[in-house]
Amino acid sequence: MTTSSSTALGQHVPEGLPSHIQHYIGGEFVDSLGGQTFDVLDPVSNTTYATAAAGQQEDVNRAVTAARRAFLEGPWPTMKPRERARVLNRIADAVEAQESRLAELETFDTGLPITQAKGQALRAAENFRFFADLIVAQFDDAMKVPGSQINYVNRKPIGVAGLITPWNTPFMLESWKLAPALATGNTVVLKPAEFTPLSASLWAQIFRDAGLPDGVFNLVNGLGEEAGDALVKHPDVPLISFTGETTTGQTIFRNAADRLKGLSMELGGKSPCVVFADADLDAAIDSALFGVFSLNGERCTAGSRILVERAVYEEFCGRFAARAKNIVVGDPHDPKTEVGALVHPVHFEKVASYVEIGKTEGRLLAGGGRPEHLPEGNYIAPTVFADVSPDARIFQEEIFGPVVAITAFDTDVEALALANNTRYGLAAYIWTQDLTRAHTFSQGVEAGMVWLNSHNVRDLRTPFGGVKASGLGHEGGYRSIDFYTDQQAVHISLGPVHTPKFGNVEASAANEG
Ligand code: NAD
Repeated sequence: MTTSSSTALGQHVPEGLPSHIQHYIGGEFVDSLGGQTFDVLDPVSNTTYATAAAGQQEDVNRAVTAARRAFLEGPWPTMKPRERARVLNRIADAVEAQESRLAELETFDTGLPITQAKGQALRAAENFRFFADLIVAQFDDAMKVPGSQINYVNRKPIGVAGLITPWNTPFMLESWKLAPALATGNTVVLKPAEFTPLSASLWAQIFRDAGLPDGVFNLVNGLGEEAGDALVKHPDVPLISFTGETTTGQTIFRNAADRLKGLSMELGGKSPCVVFADADLDAAIDSALFGVFSLNGERCTAGSRILVERAVYEEFCGRFAARAKNIVVGDPHDPKTEVGALVHPVHFEKVASYVEIGKTEGRLLAGGGRPEHLPEGNYIAPTVFADVSPDARIFQEEIFGPVVAITAFDTDVEALALANNTRYGLAAYIWTQDLTRAHTFSQGVEAGMVWLNSHNVRDLRTPFGGVKASGLGHEGGYRSIDFYTDQQAVHISLGPVHTPKFGNVEASAANEG
């Protein structure tokens, strides 16, 4: 069992924190060849608690070489699905067994409230179990042309997959890519976010203990512009699965174009939560609050624009703001905390600047900056702006913090126009008791995912992804299997093959005769 200590500020510090975080390449923990490092801060004290190896091109080359060797020579890509599934299930068991430790580390490194970090380990484990089940059940098509051909799909892993992940719920989002990439027989190089490298360092031991062959999983820490960029441009990495900001996705898209790499992009969002007057208002308020303030508001699918029908607008705003003021903001490790510390001072400054912009663009109903009782750390009180016009920056731009814009509408047509009035299209939440309206609205809303009368509750079988500036392609369930595999078509002739006889003079004469 792990014990822990606390600082003079009362901050919980996990026992056994590493002071240095390394890469994991070809089954070994290693530093950068040139010795480069970067500092890692915790978001409560904003002091450096560790250094991490900062991967450069040469380190990425080394990791890709190890991954490529494991792909070309190793047993992993050709193992029977059941054997790979056994390894994946052992990984899931190990992740579950470490739930408390993982949550403790994740909370310390990211500032996520501990009660919300706890769920992340279980979700990560479930991703491995889910893909273990899928690959065992997986079958592909065979098609017959009676008397002349049988054709079938030969599904194959593609090679070395480059996985680039963000800092919000880092471990869980890494599992989202690792599980399908590995399940389908690829080998991988993971480049986790530089703000939060701590929990990713747990994967190496988990994989090793579960019996994953060396070189199948490789981890290179480092900055996006260095390690991430080198991975995207590496000629032996045919696939990139990226989750992060839209602007980063655009850069990666450009950099991957020369080699026409397979790309999956899960990008930013500014998702609408639309509340009609006939909605169950109690349920809508609970879910709208949770949807934008859980995970500190650092959530790609946050319902950060709330659109409310005029008949219930003032009531909704009053009740929503009163609840927002009651939200417990504080030490991420305290189980009572509902909103913790934002991940990094750079991100804190960004969110705080949007709060100031919001004061010129909307009616401030709750929050508005740092809570008085928390003079240190990256804390922002849940902040609610009402009467926000659709051309406001806080209506259009992703803030990625505990800040919400509320806007009134009068008709269904106006609600749909407002919902679609951003460059993003990740999720939409719709609250109404009217079945026809619910489905009509869902068909019209420009969002990759819609929840009717619910906040974001995932079903791993459904496609996950956004439209417009929120993403490219969908992962989730069989779509992930498709992304990480090549579907080769194999054709076999049955009996004599009928081929035009080029260059055969006799045959041509016979045809003409
Ligand atoms: P980010 O784009 O800054 O960084 C994401 C990752 O990309 C990091 O590992 C970073 O080092 C790397 N990176 C940065 N520049 C790179 C480059 N030039 N080449 C290669 N890699 C590079 O994003 P973030 O701030 O870590 O995460 C927050 C963003 O992620 C938000 O916009 C959020 O909406 C989005 N997100 C989306 C989803 C989704 O599923 N759609 C899920 C979670 C987060």
